[in-house]
Amino acid sequence: MSKKDLQPENNENEQDIAALKRENECLRKYSEKLAQRLEQKIQELTAANEALAHTDQMKSRFINMAAHELRTPLAAVHGYLGVLTSPGNRFVVNADENTVELIDGIVTGIDRLQGLVQDMLDVTRIEAGTLQLKHAPVHLSLILKKIQRDFKDVVAGRQQILIINEVEHVPVMWVDGERVTQILRNLVSNAIKYNPDGGTIEIAAELMRSDDQRTSFVKITVSDTGVGVPKDQQERIFEGFYEVRNIELHSTSKTDFMGSGAGLGLPIARGVAEVHGGSLWVESPGYDPEKCLGSKFHLILPVGEPPTPKS
Ligand code: ADP
Repeated sequence: MSKKDLQPENNENEQDIAALKRENECLRKYSEKLAQRLEQKIQELTAANEALAHTDQMKSRFINMAAHELRTPLAAVHGYLGVLTSPGNRFVVNADENTVELIDGIVTGIDRLQGLVQDMLDVTRIEAGTLQLKHAPVHLSLILKKIQRDFKDVVAGRQQILIINEVEHVPVMWVDGERVTQILRNLVSNAIKYNPDGGTIEIAAELMRSDDQRTSFVKITVSDTGVGVPKDQQERIFEGFYEVRNIELHSTSKTDFMGSGAGLGLPIARGVAEVHGGSLWVESPGYDPEKCLGSKFHLILPVGEPPTPKS
């Protein structure tokens, strides 16, 4: 084969190589552009994230500041009302029925506001990780008896039934009794509120062990025959200020049917459970105010142990 015969093939090869080089160059430029665009998007997302975190911080700071500012004047009004309504006070002795009713209304309103301020403080403490627990030995049965007593009239008023199952198998728990009462009170008041008249609320507890059998837990379940929770909202309701319905339609009652509140109860309840090293979640087939499919709120708390004395 002569040199001449080889030439066209060589030319073709050179052309292919040149085309490949051009393609490579195009690809390099394209990937450079992509990398630049990606870098820009990352910067934009980082900035948006920082802005969101800042807004979130401002929200927490505002709630904290508002709660602190409201606490003092509310405590003062509460104190003055206490003096005004103390037995034997001239004002009460001479007051007619209407005035007594008006004062009762003011006392209820102030109590509710103080409850809201307390919730706002709890939410900010949980977010900041500064919620302090006072651990002590606690009998679950005593907490449940107290809850049964506290809700007796409300449950009767709504023609509902509150069943509290035997919990004698649950050992003494090393928890913050007041905080656990707060969680259960919130779950029961929701179970009453989101349950039609005549509905049932049931509380049961079972003892569980961790996989390595070393830690004991109590699982407390509050079940109701109420409207249920939409499947896609079962995490959202624990996030704070949750609102499914129109805020204009609110009745702020803690126990009227569907009388919504500020949406702070469940976030606080979950926060308190988590500070104990436990958890709280809901199980429900879905929201249906006609069929009332019900909900089960499961609270897990470690039984805990008294701290070992330091030597
Ligand atoms: P709220 O003050 O609105 O009751 P919560 O934080 O206690 O605030 O509850 C948040 C939302 O979760 C409620 O507005 C309600 O939509 C839903 N929810 C809570 N408990 C129940 C329940 N037992 N059945 C149905 N929905 C519930």
